[in-house]
Amino acid sequence: MTDTNTSAAGVRTAREIIGRSKDPVLDENNPFEAMMARFDHAAELLDLDPGLYKVLRAPEKQVIVAVPVMRDAGEVEVFTGYRVLHNTSRGPGKGGIRFDLNVTLDEVKALAAWMTWKCAVVNIPFGGAKGGVVCDPSVLSISELERLTRRYTASLIEIFGPESDIPAPDVNTNERVMAWIMDTFSMHKRHAVTGVVTGKPIEMGGSLGRREATGRGCVIATKEALRHLGLPMRGTKVAVQGFGNVGSVAAQLLEQEGLTIVAISDKSGAVYNANGIYINDALQWIHEHRFLIGYPGADAIAADDLLELDVDVLVPAAVENAITRKNASRIKARVICEGANGPTTPGADRVLEEQGVFVIPDILANAGGVTVSYFEWVQDRAGYFWDEATVNDRLQSIIQRSFHDVLSVASRHQVNMRTAAYMLSVERVAAVHRLRGMYA
Ligand code: GLU
Repeated sequence: MTDTNTSAAGVRTAREIIGRSKDPVLDENNPFEAMMARFDHAAELLDLDPGLYKVLRAPEKQVIVAVPVMRDAGEVEVFTGYRVLHNTSRGPGKGGIRFDLNVTLDEVKALAAWMTWKCAVVNIPFGGAKGGVVCDPSVLSISELERLTRRYTASLIEIFGPESDIPAPDVNTNERVMAWIMDTFSMHKRHAVTGVVTGKPIEMGGSLGRREATGRGCVIATKEALRHLGLPMRGTKVAVQGFGNVGSVAAQLLEQEGLTIVAISDKSGAVYNANGIYINDALQWIHEHRFLIGYPGADAIAADDLLELDVDVLVPAAVENAITRKNASRIKARVICEGANGPTTPGADRVLEEQGVFVIPDILANAGGVTVSYFEWVQDRAGYFWDEATVNDRLQSIIQRSFHDVLSVASRHQVNMRTAAYMLSVERVAAVHRLRGMYA
């Protein structure tokens, strides 16, 4: 056994390694490079041991599977599926599965690493993982989706497990998909294994409050940020990009807290109403018409303009790279709460910092989802289920505590919230590596 902590004479420090390889990020829109730029920065500031630096840069495991699916018409189509375990030193791999045409290995690697840092920021005993299948779920029937999910799960049967790697919903996956994963895994194991996935339907071991948890976490973090900055809640203007599970719940709860949601958007476009949009009304419209477009309670605006509105709080809750070097200087919000994973590029970070925007970074802002996933896993393992108030109270105390943990790193090191969140989480993961040593 060797110790990753000892750097013998002549061994380069992380700072030196980074210094030598630090070309400006080659493609800041590549999520893996965007994640790595933030990790490198934190590693440098922490003066991370060089061995550990190298270990933490490399995802532990990357699996690519072919997923053949019989289409309803009888034709066979082969999809590509990924699962990446970035780091499992603190506990089993944890992270969602997305079904999307934009899924790439680099994206899944970045998302897996973000899960490692996210779980460490909120200090829950999980590592980071992520999965994805390159597909357009909107053109697949329910039974095609079911076959795709089951075949993907079967291909990864020895990776998944409550002690090893626990999937959850992400872009375009939901409770129903989780139920199929749980069933497929359980059929292989010959007994019901509820703890293999989180975000399941309540009836089969899901947790109350899980569906709303990511949006609720965003709201808790936003409230802490407003309090910290001495800004009021009542009448505070908010724009929310993305109206899926995260954005719609965040909008609903922020409205309940007295903030005014002036703009929302989904894939079909964005709408604006200076007097505020009634979120339940908009949800009802989407329920009836599938998309936001045409919603009569607000005026249509260009999707990109939503980000640049004169608001106090901006919640990017769609996908990666919404705020880039190109539009960052036009952002007027005082607070950005990153509901999505990776909505801001490293180039944009610099611009926002210069403008004095207070960014609640994704690995803190959207950690409510995985936090309640952790509660779900605990409840499944204990076989004892909590009421919703207990779930929400415990979520609130974890997000509040984590916000202040990050804030105190930020003020101690005079860095922004993103850098502080990375410093805190990288150090937490590094600490476990030092204690465990390196198995050789
Ligand atoms: N997909 C969510 C995320 O990116 C939740 C992951 C989980 O609960 O494991 O944080």
